[in-house]
Amino acid sequence: MRRLIIVSNRLPVTVSKIKGKYVINPSVGGLATGINSLEISNNCKWVGWPGFTKSKKFHDNNLKELEKELRSDDLIPVYISKLYFDDYYRGFCNETIWPLFHYFVQYAHYNKNYWDAYLRVNEIFCEKILEISKPDDLIWIHDYHLMLLPQLLRKSYPNISIGFFLHIPFPSSEIFRLIPWCNEIIQGLLGADLIGFHTFDYVRHFLESIRRILGHEHTLGKVTFGNRIIKVDSFPMGIDFNKFSNSQKDSIVQKNISKLKRDIGKDYKVILSIDRLDYTKGIPERLEAFDIFLNNYPMFRGKVIFIMVAVPSRIEVTHYKLLKDQVDNLIGRINGKYGKIGWVPIWYLYRSFEFDQLTALYSIADVLFLTPLRDGMNLVAKEYIATKVDQNGVLILGEMAGTAKELSEAIIINPNDQEKTADALKDALEMDVDEKKIRMKSMRTRLKRYDIARWSKDFTDQLTRIKEEQKNMEARSLTRARRKNLIYRYRKSKRALFLLDYDGTLAPFNSRPELVFPDSELKKILAKLNKNTKNSLIIISGRDRHTLEKWVDKFTTGLVAEHGVWIKDDKWQMIDNLSDEWKEDIRPILETFVDRTPGSFVEEKAYSLVWHFRRVDPALAVVRVGELMDVLLHITANLNVGVLEGNKVIEIKDTGVDKGRAAIQWISKIKPDFILSIGDDWTDEDVFEVLPDWAFSIKVGYEPSKARYNISNYSEVRKLLNEL
Ligand code: UDP
Repeated sequence: MRRLIIVSNRLPVTVSKIKGKYVINPSVGGLATGINSLEISNNCKWVGWPGFTKSKKFHDNNLKELEKELRSDDLIPVYISKLYFDDYYRGFCNETIWPLFHYFVQYAHYNKNYWDAYLRVNEIFCEKILEISKPDDLIWIHDYHLMLLPQLLRKSYPNISIGFFLHIPFPSSEIFRLIPWCNEIIQGLLGADLIGFHTFDYVRHFLESIRRILGHEHTLGKVTFGNRIIKVDSFPMGIDFNKFSNSQKDSIVQKNISKLKRDIGKDYKVILSIDRLDYTKGIPERLEAFDIFLNNYPMFRGKVIFIMVAVPSRIEVTHYKLLKDQVDNLIGRINGKYGKIGWVPIWYLYRSFEFDQLTALYSIADVLFLTPLRDGMNLVAKEYIATKVDQNGVLILGEMAGTAKELSEAIIINPNDQEKTADALKDALEMDVDEKKIRMKSMRTRLKRYDIARWSKDFTDQLTRIKEEQKNMEARSLTRARRKNLIYRYRKSKRALFLLDYDGTLAPFNSRPELVFPDSELKKILAKLNKNTKNSLIIISGRDRHTLEKWVDKFTTGLVAEHGVWIKDDKWQMIDNLSDEWKEDIRPILETFVDRTPGSFVEEKAYSLVWHFRRVDPALAVVRVGELMDVLLHITANLNVGVLEGNKVIEIKDTGVDKGRAAIQWISKIKPDFILSIGDDWTDEDVFEVLPDWAFSIKVGYEPSKARYNISNYSEVRKLLNEL
């Protein structure tokens, strides 16, 4: 039976040592609830760090007991030695990725030791998963601690289902590329089949990073990487809505509510904020705004209290210590400035609360006041709305929280605009009950519908779907059996014709096309094929005559240059009487585009002009390609030339020319009984189209094609030719 393996940095338990014995307490976070709601959950294992590093101190019999107990709950502990843990967790996770992904660029450290430890810990996780997993398992990896893990696992299990979900923001590509190891991180993530983020903005940023860093395009969120298609999508994480919504039915919660009301005493309006004491949460900005609020609207003094819960977090990291001092000082200043006997404006609680106390706090709060400067999602906002069954509350939410995209009925503020944030507090406190209810109702409906169970199901369903799509893709690939048949046909043949494209087929792309001359491996393969007298080896390319002659003439039977303008058997011949007079009209237009588009250039061939844009910023390229196509189609309407879009090029050439016509000439000349045609872009489709049914045609890449089979890249092509 198929199993689900959840992988996260921490196991969903806390392990403590009491009187020399280990005690396990489950920590039922949202994620665990979501997973438990899945059908597959009764066949699920969870892999993660148990919360302590294994050292001599823990090397005792109790540890074995603990391990047994964890495993009986399907929890698989990954021990990380002290040697790596600090650099991995405090270092790379919390001093590199966390600040950078939250746009705190100035706080990020780039330290090679941190990176090495991060890689090592990801490897340790991989080793543990390999010990317990099978190729048909479904593996769901969570969060920024394990971004290299998908690719590490993929190496051992090429076909296993891997999902990855990032719980923090994915920053703009301009920020992401600051990390010296950004390339490795992207490649690590692309080991997954489905990559999920909280919001569409993070999806956009990630796709843009792939495009800029690896040069891979996407089609509707799908990226082809190697021989796999990978889906990138947004899944805004939900909460266990019913648990929060029903919390007030619990007698302990009711007791806590009564106690809180008693302790607060007078009929104060309550403003509440709850977050970890983290620099991303905008706590000082919030306090400043509260100060301005009390200053600008003195009528609220003595009428409101602000309960601020700050949960201690990462106290060992310098910036967190400094933040704590700053917050302590600010609260002291504001309480000193406005407080009076019998009224303290801010009640500051530096600790964490359990569910029954937390929901009591949510219940009594008139306003939940959250001002993150950057936040992947912010679940507290959702929990507050779910808990407020009477709908008599207002949420003030910073626009840089992922949640703000879903909760548009909240009062959305920019946390850096403290005057307006202070006004928002006033508006929230004065809001009419009916309006509060209207806003709350629609937010509650949405959160109830897309709760944590739905989120988990949505993610795992999509993972299954993309795997099916991959299987369909494989159906067209050159499988072992098809390859065997191809080789058999070749062996049997008396006259074999090879029609091979060059760029992207025999050699990889380079931003400088002049550098893609044949390397020694390619020369060897071509020379060997060419030596066999039954073979006719034709390179059929868009390149100019001189380059082809210089690079591959001596390894081939014939050449086709400029997409079919020129054919070389003994000597170069033009396919038809072509004219190049039109170039005078077109060249100046292309030159204007070069001037306006950094990174682009014009290549002039005898009977065509090519505008290359491989090195152009991809976003600008989209705009310029559209503009240029418009201009060219208009201008060339009365000329005998065609405009064609190739792989990062736009080519203008005589309409009578295509690779297909050149291919026919070779076929009628050689009269082969075996044909192998391989190409990677749309210009090769003209060849595939004119081939007889029995010919073998192969498209490099997995885009739709008229070819019979697909192959993943140029090195696979080389392997095949080598085998032949
Ligand atoms: N939380 C808690 N006790 C507290 C404060 C917060 O259990 O005293 C929980 C809260 O219920 C929420 C989580 O901690 O589920 C915080 O998640 P959020 O997305 O708001 O912020 P994060 O800490 O992940 O940045």
